[in-house]
Amino acid sequence: MSRATTPKAKGAPALVIAPGATIGILGGGQLGRMIALAAARLGYRCHVFAPEGDPPAGQVAAATTHADYRDHAALERFAKQVSVVTYEFENVPVETVHLLEPLVPVRPGARSLEIAQDRLNEKTFANALGIGTASFAPVDDVPSLEAALARIGTPAILKTRRLGYDGKGQATIEASSDPAEAWQAVGRAPAILEARVDFEREISVVIARALDGTLAPFVPVENRHVGGILDRTTAPAPITPTLAAEAEELAGRIVDALDHVGVLCVELFVSKAGGLLMNELAPRVHNSGHWTIDACGTSQFEQHVRAVCGLPLGSPERHSDAVMQNLIGDDVERWPALLADPGAHLHLYGKAEARPGRKMGHVTWIKPRSS
Ligand code: AMP
Repeated sequence: MSRATTPKAKGAPALVIAPGATIGILGGGQLGRMIALAAARLGYRCHVFAPEGDPPAGQVAAATTHADYRDHAALERFAKQVSVVTYEFENVPVETVHLLEPLVPVRPGARSLEIAQDRLNEKTFANALGIGTASFAPVDDVPSLEAALARIGTPAILKTRRLGYDGKGQATIEASSDPAEAWQAVGRAPAILEARVDFEREISVVIARALDGTLAPFVPVENRHVGGILDRTTAPAPITPTLAAEAEELAGRIVDALDHVGVLCVELFVSKAGGLLMNELAPRVHNSGHWTIDACGTSQFEQHVRAVCGLPLGSPERHSDAVMQNLIGDDVERWPALLADPGAHLHLYGKAEARPGRKMGHVTWIKPRSS
């Protein structure tokens, strides 16, 4: 097969990237690893660009560049060696994408990153689309925190605007808390204060959007977090078909507004009153979509590869219901028992050291579809 169906003319990068080509992945974690595995199944090679040594994705990729995201020379060399670039985590600097964009198609584009990297942008963007969120206010110092608390009340959560993940960079504020201490706890970085939502459950929608704008949402799933980290995903979420349809529609509105190409995850709270409030966006494949590998016709990783290569999407239909359990830190030592369980599908990420809080792998159990 040819490397690309459309010749790569100067200034007019190929739209469709055919199997045989090389996909560049910014980021070397388990998400990149699973993208590379799905890409290999479709006949693509992957080239991982990651700052850390021995990245999990590098173990299964055709090539790895070990360099900083701001190393312009390394990025230019990388761009020459790949037909399309994607990213597997949202904290890639936007300037990296801006540097690559004139050289090679970058999918999803910079706008998805810009919105999702900043919690204030993200919530403002959602509200502008008519999507509800917890009440929020920007915080830049102790006086603005005090003003935000007077407006939003307690309990509330102070979160850094940028670079927070898995509950990091967050402080809960109760009526008795000292605002100055909370400000200190988030490192005195630009932040937002959010009302703490009294939710019934947390759900997410993982959705793919193709280059031609076709949408393919996976069924909404329920997520349980422990200590701010995803612990378990249940597919489908036990919600009404009406609410599920509302969540899928809302996710479609988001990817359309971003002109997103690839997979994106929308995390939502189902409020006790039964409404949906957006918590955050991940402009990439997501931990709450791992179950799709074992329970759907097309996994989130294959959908992502299809979308960024300009191919038609596969069916997101599930053939089974599923429960996905993350293996965090020492949990990974359960691997012999999990291998002995005939219903368990074990996925390990090739990480040498099992530090507390580190995602080492996951396991998915599937059962016949309930509905
Ligand atoms: P985040 O990093 O924003 O995804 O937060 C991690 C987890 O903290 C979420 O999945 C929720 O379980 C909880 N959380 C975050 N923000 C809120 C909020 N405004 N109200 C209630 N719980 C929250």
